[in-house]
Amino acid sequence: MWLHGVVAFFWLGVGYLGSWVLAAVARIVVVGSGFAGVEAVRRLHRLGLCDGNECIWVTANSKLVFLPLLPALVSRRYRPEDVEWGVEGYARRLGVELVARRVVAVEPGRMRLEDSEVLEFDYAVVAAGARPAFYGVPGAEELSVTVYSAGEAWRLGEMIEQGRIRSMVVVGAGFVGVEVAAEALWLARRLGRELRVTLVDMLEEPLQLLGNRKASKLTREILEELGAGFEMGRPVTRVYEGGVELKDGTRVEGDVVVWSAGLRGPGIEAPREALARGGFFQVDEYLRVQGLGGRVYAAGDAMAFRRGDCVSLKMAREALRSASRAVENIAARLRGRSEQPYKPLITSCRPMAGVGLGPDRGVLILGKKLAFRSTLVHWYHEKLRRSYERLLRGG
Ligand SMILES: Cc1cc2nc3c(=O)[nH]c(=O)nc-3n(C[C@H](O)[C@H](O)[C@H](O)COP(=O)(O)OP(=O)(O)OC[C@H]3O[C@@H](n4cnc5c(N)ncnc54)[C@H](O)[C@@H]3O)c2cc1C
Repeated sequence: MWLHGVVAFFWLGVGYLGSWVLAAVARIVVVGSGFAGVEAVRRLHRLGLCDGNECIWVTANSKLVFLPLLPALVSRRYRPEDVEWGVEGYARRLGVELVARRVVAVEPGRMRLEDSEVLEFDYAVVAAGARPAFYGVPGAEELSVTVYSAGEAWRLGEMIEQGRIRSMVVVGAGFVGVEVAAEALWLARRLGRELRVTLVDMLEEPLQLLGNRKASKLTREILEELGAGFEMGRPVTRVYEGGVELKDGTRVEGDVVVWSAGLRGPGIEAPREALARGGFFQVDEYLRVQGLGGRVYAAGDAMAFRRGDCVSLKMAREALRSASRAVENIAARLRGRSEQPYKPLITSCRPMAGVGLGPDRGVLILGKKLAFRSTLVHWYHEKLRRSYERLLRGG
């Protein structure tokens, strides 16, 4: 439908009718169908912005993948169909046009899709998430597995279940690494299979970047109870078939190497000033991407947002909140009101998170000082999962 619109525009040229139509109807494009993309579309609809305007939803994979539960696929507590749902029906119900294609480049007022098609817009919200970062470590991308899709997580669990692996190296002891390690060990224990899991990180402790020492200590304790080993304080310099090599030459062997050592931006081309380190979209306090003419917003994992010394963390709740704010700011502009700055809730200065370490263990982190053993995160994830299942399946 939007292609017809573009063609119609060129037919009409810059005549009176064409100008009037364009002045009256704004085209708003949302990129991505993760937490931030779904929230942006939901908010556009709730604010009535798609009535009288044209809303287009472009996504590389027309599904919402509930990333926080991917580690629980490794241990078979959930199945792939429990954690991902197509968004076509939802788009149809909201009257939003869905375009199942990857955006490769964005510039002021237009974006290029993978088949070189150009999509023009008045406003856009780029919520294209993040991807694993390999930092140029030789072998990392080719020889390790990541846990960034339901298929990858499920296959990892399958290898354990079928007894095809007896050892695993997990590179990166952040949120994803510690959760995957715990779920893998829990599964092996439940099945009575031998599995040696070693966490490797250039930092000294798990979850160290959060700056909550109690959380790091509790997480390490729980992982050790489950039988995990640690090789900390040295970066990985190479991944080879059967393990990793550390900076001091130590080799840590594993039948499989899981890479969870960090994230980079979604890989969408943009002018230099639009991109922060790692390829994330650099946004101002209103979530407008710099260098893109002021009408492109970014939300969720795709953005780099800093407020003073504090950086917004790449978490589901931040994705939802930033997407809402971006759409509310677009609504404000269309309605002649002023935009509001984004106020992140979960930041490097105020970390708040639940870490699930197998089905019966976990850690709740509240700020820099407080951390408890708690399984609250399991309840929360299940509650949220059901609400997305209902929303997207239309139940
Ligand atoms: C294993 C794992 C566990 C996690 N656990 C937790 C947790 O316990 N708690 C928590 O709060 N957070 C957790 N997170 C982080 C959380 O899931 C993310 O912060 C959240 O998913 C970000 O949402 P998003 O919409 O910005 O990005 P995503 O969910 O990554 O969605 C990005 C969307 O953009 C689409 N896309 C990508 N590139 C393009 C393109 N070029 N063109 C068009 N579409 C594109 C994708 O198909 C996808 O639909 C976890 C993440 C992982 C990977």
